[in-house]
Amino acid sequence: MGSGTTLVETVKLGANAIGRDINPVVHFLVKCALSVYDRKAILETYRAIERDVADEIRSYYRATLADGTQADVLYFFWVKVVDCPACAAPVDLFGSRILARHAYPKKVPQAHAVCPRCGGINKVHVEDRDARCSSCKKTFDPNAGPAKGQSATCPSCNHSFPIAKTIRATGKPPAHRMYAKLVLLQDGRKAYHPITDEDQNLYAKAEHSLAKHKNAYPVVAIEPGYNTNQVLGYNYCYWHEMFNARQLLCLAILADRIRIIPDPLLRDLFTCLFSGALEFNNMFASYKGEGTGAVRHMFAHHILKPERVPIEANLWGHPRARIVLHHVRGSHPPGARLRR
Ligand SMILES: [Zn+2]
Ligand SMILES: [Zn+2]
Repeated sequence: MGSGTTLVETVKLGANAIGRDINPVVHFLVKCALSVYDRKAILETYRAIERDVADEIRSYYRATLADGTQADVLYFFWVKVVDCPACAAPVDLFGSRILARHAYPKKVPQAHAVCPRCGGINKVHVEDRDARCSSCKKTFDPNAGPAKGQSATCPSCNHSFPIAKTIRATGKPPAHRMYAKLVLLQDGRKAYHPITDEDQNLYAKAEHSLAKHKNAYPVVAIEPGYNTNQVLGYNYCYWHEMFNARQLLCLAILADRIRIIPDPLLRDLFTCLFSGALEFNNMFASYKGEGTGAVRHMFAHHILKPERVPIEANLWGHPRARIVLHHVRGSHPPGARLRR
């Protein structure tokens, strides 16, 4: 029955349908989609979860702006980093310095690029090859980066090396560096800002809380297979290694709360939503840019492709960003039938 499209459409037409699948995940998903729910109970459950955990999760996506005001962070931007095999300098695996472009660049050619020298975020033309950083005044090519195809060139010593082989030789999953964030200003505008000490400290706090959190996540080895060999080659050996510490912590807080929903039917529904949220909240997700749904989820490519510039979304979600449990407010799983 796959993900149940045919079953749901059949049921919508008033016919009886029988589905079978050997995949327990789709069985669970289709069971949730075909169950009948009390809309009021769903909303009450959502509000109870929000009351109990939203503030704690949101506290990990806050930042102080230059003028001293507090802002919500919608996204943190990360880049994979590998040490140069020749001189050991850390090399950011940027293929381009442009972190955000519009989905229709012909219509909206303005883009944002990160300065390779000082990390400042600059407004550039999407096709610019020569930009001047407004912070450090140095010039750089926004459309170039150390990574090109399967290899990278070290900016410190000019040595070129193969990316996958160099990461494999470290014996560890790839390391990441947080380099920018998208914040929501008080007037409702969004702005790209560089990472500050406060952002680093907040992330360190999440790492610390995760270490103390009991049974935060399942530790399950990734089995070799057609779809997993590529990530095994990047030393991802456990599924939880596909998430960063803050994602694991916030997902654990959410999962703990969903686990204690008393009604089994509602508990399953929220577990189903949680499963969907996992696809968008991991270090394989990437930024689609502006003027479109912002986050490309990890299965967009139908392969597990290690993402060089992953995006970390605010895990509670925000009305102005990609949403997680906010789905409950306006909609429901595909085909779910709501009893009003
Ligand atoms: Zn080097
Ligand atoms: Zn600069």
